[in-house]
Amino acid sequence: MPVNGTHLVLENYIGGEFLPCSAYIDSHDPSTGEVYCKVPDSGSEEVDAAVKAAKEAFPDWSSRSPAERAQVMNKLADLMEARLEEFAQAESKDQGKTITFASTVDIPRSVHNFRFFASSVLHHTTECSQMDHMGCLNYTIRSPVGVAGLISPWNLPLYLLTWKIAPAIAAGNTVVAKPSEMTSVTAWMMCKLMNEAGVPPGVVNVVFGTGPHAGDALVGHPDVPLVSFTGSTATARVITERGAPYCKKLSLELGGKNPALVFADADIEQCVATTVRSSFSNQGEICLCTSRIFVERSVFPEFLEKFVAAARKWKTGVPSDVSNNNGALISKEHLEKVRGFVKLARDEGAQVHCGEGVDKLDLPERNRGGYFMSPTIITGVTDSSQLMQEEIFGPVTCVTPFDQEEEVISRANGVRYGLAATVWTRDVGRVHRVARRLQTGLVWTNCWLVRDLNLPFGGMKNSGVGREGGKDSYHFFTEVKTVTIKQ
Ligand code: NAD
Repeated sequence: MPVNGTHLVLENYIGGEFLPCSAYIDSHDPSTGEVYCKVPDSGSEEVDAAVKAAKEAFPDWSSRSPAERAQVMNKLADLMEARLEEFAQAESKDQGKTITFASTVDIPRSVHNFRFFASSVLHHTTECSQMDHMGCLNYTIRSPVGVAGLISPWNLPLYLLTWKIAPAIAAGNTVVAKPSEMTSVTAWMMCKLMNEAGVPPGVVNVVFGTGPHAGDALVGHPDVPLVSFTGSTATARVITERGAPYCKKLSLELGGKNPALVFADADIEQCVATTVRSSFSNQGEICLCTSRIFVERSVFPEFLEKFVAAARKWKTGVPSDVSNNNGALISKEHLEKVRGFVKLARDEGAQVHCGEGVDKLDLPERNRGGYFMSPTIITGVTDSSQLMQEEIFGPVTCVTPFDQEEEVISRANGVRYGLAATVWTRDVGRVHRVARRLQTGLVWTNCWLVRDLNLPFGGMKNSGVGREGGKDSYHFFTEVKTVTIKQ
């Protein structure tokens, strides 16, 4: 791997070749704050070259059978799995997440994405309908669209990138992917395996760089008819406007402000244990993390006491230490933003029960410049506070009491987001009633983050447009055509 002094230097992967760039961006190790990697600062020139390579590779790749494409993808999955530890260490260093999370969630799920879509593409069927009274038979056919633009965020870097690359190439498209400029290393490592896996040059191209520069060039490219984007709602608006003149097909997976609804009949022990995970896993940097917890008033004191005690045991520290539950946040700017919410809570007269400003972090000398923050629990905020309305995307969650089922549904729905909710109750009738009325794309009852990739994933309202998952991804990454035959 190219190393400039002490820095790791990444290269774009275009048409099967690794190409240097004329300018680079600094990438920091979040656990120390030090620059450790140089990421290409690509622009329209590099994006043009990648789109050209993808266009050239499309006729051959799209005409291969799903089984042939699946074989290549399974080989890539095997190669990644054989290097799981190496990938996990790189992801942990690049993103600040713990080595445990990277090696049990990010990388295994990235491998699984390739295996899952390699398998599911073999089983899709199309529709057929007969119109005997007209003497006609109708059927549908699906074809890959062309060059797919794939843009992903920094929180689950390789996992979310492969969640797009895998279904796109399984369906016969070729791709130009742009990972977040803050977490590019594992995508680059994956490119190193493409040739050995048998991925033909130009099928997968990865261009590194910033959103306004490389990302914008990709979204605005006339030869990229579809864009799958995961990131913030603010960026999604820019992308939607940019793609509008070309009528691009867009899939948008965006932010959340996810509620937990804890009813008095819930198993409180299990609820507390899972809600600590759902609030603080990956430093709270998961779009599905719980950030508003509504607890029925009769169990509010018991829940709060147990929840604060459990959060205090959730250890924050050096990401490479397997005894830690959380590592560092992604950047200095993001840490300041998250801390700003806690300051706002104090200014508004809320109570901060643990974490920021309450518990002191004990970090080794070398990590004092890192972006660490421990799990923070807040009560006493109003529903209209920014803390209850805006995505914080850090280890901060607010707890508030409620009295009635009707009331809590309305309060849970009272935000512009609609990604995921968790519901805690033993009453099956209530599960069905509440799940039906929550305005979120996902509802987990008595669990969190359980995913069957066959089923639709995505958000309502400002949390997204479209769904991804087995059939949904296949539909997004193909165009459907209805053929009618008069007999
Ligand atoms: P972001 O929107 O800042 O960036 C996401 C990606 O878009 C990055 O690769 C970035 O470089 C690129 N980008 C930025 N501006 C662009 C532009 N003008 N044109 C094209 N590309 C551009 O988001 P982030 O801070 O990296 O990620 C955090 C956000 O992602 C949170 O809001 C989180 O909820 C959301 N997210 C959603 C899901 C989901 O599945 N719904 C999953 C993970 C993260």
